[in-house]
Amino acid sequence: MLVSLQEMLQEAEKKNFAIASINTPNQISLRAVIQAAEDTGMPITLNHAQTEENVVPIEIAIPLILEYAKQSSAAISVHVDHGYDFDHCMKAVRLGCTSIMFDRSRFSLEKNIEDVKQFIKIVKPLGIGVEAELGAMPNNMPSEIHGQETSDLSDLSVYYTDPDEAEIFCERTGVDVLTTSFGTVHGMYAGAANLDIERVKTIKSKAGDVKLGMHGGSGTPFDQVQSAIDAGIKKINYFTAIDTAPAPHLLKTIQEAKNPVNFCNLANQAMEIIYEETVKVLKIFKNDK
Ligand SMILES: [Zn+2]
Repeated sequence: MLVSLQEMLQEAEKKNFAIASINTPNQISLRAVIQAAEDTGMPITLNHAQTEENVVPIEIAIPLILEYAKQSSAAISVHVDHGYDFDHCMKAVRLGCTSIMFDRSRFSLEKNIEDVKQFIKIVKPLGIGVEAELGAMPNNMPSEIHGQETSDLSDLSVYYTDPDEAEIFCERTGVDVLTTSFGTVHGMYAGAANLDIERVKTIKSKAGDVKLGMHGGSGTPFDQVQSAIDAGIKKINYFTAIDTAPAPHLLKTIQEAKNPVNFCNLANQAMEIIYEETVKVLKIFKNDK
């Protein structure tokens, strides 16, 4: 069923869990992630990222995700991940997305605030939840696509969200989720993760009613993820670890096959593995300790 991101966030705050926000750029991922949400009883957002336009265009992805979401017993918000430009995000509005990330983090604080404010003014009356980002999310994904360029990861603190800027941003925009940078990276974590949990606590104390988001959860030790939830993170984008999980298993199946391998069987195997990986993550985000 479709549930607004705002409603989910209230519940996440009350029960101290984090909403999983997962990209589903194909039907295998989509079905597996929805099944995992249904079986764990956890609310989720199903994402189409603007960077996935080359995998599946938003005009195809969103109607399909919406249809699956409506037929599911799980609480689902159909979400745009990292919408970088206004036209793309407005397309998402017309297609029926229930929440949208309008990512203007590459601009100055002032422009980020003004652009997000304008966007909220347009979409708030429609009941659409809005996520924004302040600070930058570094990438560990070798790609030339905007938003996925490989970042210098030698000192992650240069990307961190400034708590004072976060306070100004939250006050002036009234955004639903502010995604913050405090030591995670897009893609798989390289090396030992060391999240700045104290920074999350400080930002939380300055954010008022705005809920905090974290991207780049893959590869972060689960105990640190739960510390981040306790410190105030209520929405976590998690994708790479789920999306890369099937490959070694599929390779083994192919290598050990005596006969030509049927793609449908591989797809079913991949769906099973994505399901298991997602269940594992949703149980961590539930934060029952
Ligand atoms: Zn992200």
